[in-house]
Amino acid sequence: MNPSTPLSRATLAVTAGRPTHERGAALSPPVVLSSTFVSSGVPTGDEPLYGRAANPTWSDLEAALGTLEDAALPGLVLSSGMAAIDAALSLVPPGGRVVLPRHAYQLTGVLAADLAARTGLRAVPVDVADTEATLAAVRAEPTDLLWLESPTNPMLEVADLPALVAGAHEAGTPVAVDNTFATPIAQRPLEHGADLVVHSVTKYLAGHSDLVLGALVTSDPDLRARLHAHRTLHGAIAGPWEAWLALRGLRTLALRVERSQASAAVLAARLAAHPSVVEVRHPSLPTDPGHERAARLLDGFGSVLGLRPRGGVAAADAVVDAVRLWVPATSLGGVESMLERRRRFATEAETVPEDLLRLSVGIEDVEDLWADLAQALDGLG
Ligand SMILES: *Cc1c(COP(=O)(O)O)cnc(C)c1O
Repeated sequence: MNPSTPLSRATLAVTAGRPTHERGAALSPPVVLSSTFVSSGVPTGDEPLYGRAANPTWSDLEAALGTLEDAALPGLVLSSGMAAIDAALSLVPPGGRVVLPRHAYQLTGVLAADLAARTGLRAVPVDVADTEATLAAVRAEPTDLLWLESPTNPMLEVADLPALVAGAHEAGTPVAVDNTFATPIAQRPLEHGADLVVHSVTKYLAGHSDLVLGALVTSDPDLRARLHAHRTLHGAIAGPWEAWLALRGLRTLALRVERSQASAAVLAARLAAHPSVVEVRHPSLPTDPGHERAARLLDGFGSVLGLRPRGGVAAADAVVDAVRLWVPATSLGGVESMLERRRRFATEAETVPEDLLRLSVGIEDVEDLWADLAQALDGLG
């Protein structure tokens, strides 16, 4: 094999973050459960000293995440996706200005509102599918950060990442992208020039609904050093067990994403033709507002669907109650298919329809998934 041939993302998911082939070395890295590390004298800055600042099990996962996102540096793992978002937003000075999606992950919006109340942060919500409007908001006043999420949770709007990053940089505004939905299999924001990538590792990257973890990835050494210092100071660190499980889950990322998004496209098409369905949102549908852009910019349409059954909130709740295989639960990106009505949360954006169900398609057999959904929808009569 020519070592200069770039490896595919599916291969990297398996190989990244592993030690070089050394005779007798363990193929799978150990879980290092240690609060401190043997040291004496003046620290060099390279060796692990204390468990809040460094842990070799984090480092394996961080190396893998950096590789998968095409970063020049390893990522940084934190205790949750929200801890990662909190660390990223801490870079905005008091009274600073952030332009962000009106349909960002709901707690991103809640955190921005909290920062607005406590530090005077000015949060400007925009429709990130509208490139002109988003850039106009960035240019309107000096802006400290353009926060993007694409596709958005739960409305699945697709942002024109290259155009937005270029436009923001022209205005001197750095760009952070929550890449949780797309995963690095479908989208590498750093390739488009974004400054920072944020992940809820809890979702697709770990993929088994058994842990909560977050990550930050950047190619900028100064930015990484600031975020690293923030993590050590504020202490929102990953548990070594969670980091180890996440790396184990990451090995099958490409397989899981391929399977679940293929099934999601089949289900989207069938749902769109079902008489008890008012609207289906999935970028795979040629009629979906995000279709053309997703086809151009993403390597895959993803496996989250939006579904509005005929009959409003009562019908949506009835579908959640009637499914047997699909799990009624919040979260997404696990091997298990899940669904929920998003507006049951008071913190969800009011522009998200009351009767919208968010479906996260897992890796079960697509015919089993369809049969369960169809019986639930048929039951609406
Ligand atoms: C779940 C989620 C988060 C929050 O991550 P946690 O790991 O739950 O803290 C952030 N962004 C998106 C897009 C998410 O889906």
